[in-house]
Amino acid sequence: MSRIAYVNGRYLPHGEAAVSIEDRGYQFADGVYEVCEVREGKLVDEPRHMARLDRSLKELRMARPMSARALARVLRETVRRNRVRDGIVYLQVTRGVAPRDFPFPASGTRPSLVVTARSHDRARLEKQAEGGIAVVTVPDIRWQRVDIKSVALLPNVLAKQAARDQGAREAWMVDPEGRVTEGASSNAWIVTRDGVLITRPLDTGILPGITRSVVIDELKAKGLKVEERPFTVEEAYAAREAFVTSASQIVMPVVSIDGRPVGGGKPGPVTASLRGAYHQHADIR
Ligand code: PMP
Repeated sequence: MSRIAYVNGRYLPHGEAAVSIEDRGYQFADGVYEVCEVREGKLVDEPRHMARLDRSLKELRMARPMSARALARVLRETVRRNRVRDGIVYLQVTRGVAPRDFPFPASGTRPSLVVTARSHDRARLEKQAEGGIAVVTVPDIRWQRVDIKSVALLPNVLAKQAARDQGAREAWMVDPEGRVTEGASSNAWIVTRDGVLITRPLDTGILPGITRSVVIDELKAKGLKVEERPFTVEEAYAAREAFVTSASQIVMPVVSIDGRPVGGGKPGPVTASLRGAYHQHADIR
C-alpha cells in the first residue's frame, strides 16, 4: 500500500506529493510542525498538541492554514487513509510560497500544510523500552527560541547523527554551564539517588514537550515530587534512573550516558511505572 500525504487540499501518494521549490519551508525553514502519537487509531493528547501549534504560529506571526475543526478532520483522514493503528501523525505548516526574499511575503500568501502518517511497530518499541537506550552528550548549538517547534532542526540532525555514530539512540544537548537542556528530539529527565525526579523548567531554551507535561500530571496524580530545575551532566552520570519523553517514544528509559551505565545499566522502576501508566493520563480521542 502506498503512503498517502495531505498537501494543500489534496490527498496524494507520496511519490506524487510535492511542494513548490519556492515554499518558504524549503527556502528558509520558515515553518512549524507537530507530531502526535496515534494509538489504536486515535490521537493522543491532540488538544495540547494543537494548543502548542497555535502558540508556535503566533510566535512566528504565521497564519493558521485552516480552522482547528478542519485540521482535526485532515489529521484523522490522513491516519485513516494510511491505515495507521499505532504510529504517528505529522503536520507541517509553512509561511507559504513566494519569491525568495527574507521579509515576510505579501499578506494573503497562503500557508502551506502537509500532513503525513506512519505506522510503528508497537512490539518493537516495547522491546526497546525493556532494554533502554544509550545517550551521548553534545554541546547545544541551537538558537535562542527552541520553545517554538520550528522545522529548523539542523543542530538536532547533527546531534542525532553524533549519537548514531557513537552507537547511541539519542543525544542530550548541554548548555555552556554544563547543564542538560533536552534531547535532540525528546525532553530529558533523571531520578536522583534520593528518588527525586528532575527535568529542566520551561523557558525559551527547551521545547515544551507535550509528553513532559502529561508525565508531570501523572507524577502529581501519583503524589510524586518533581523538581523542575536544570541538572548537570555530572548529576546525570550519578543518577539512579534516567529517561526521555516524546510523543513517538512516550517514556523511554536511558541506560547509559556517554558510555557510563546509569542505574546499573538497566531501566529503573520509576521509569517503567511512568511508561506503563502513561496512557491512563493522556487524552485519547
Ligand atoms: N524536545 C525536542 C527538541 C523535540 O523535538 C521533541 C519531540 N518533538 C520533544 C522535546 C518532545 O516533545 P513531545 O513530547 O511534545 O513530543
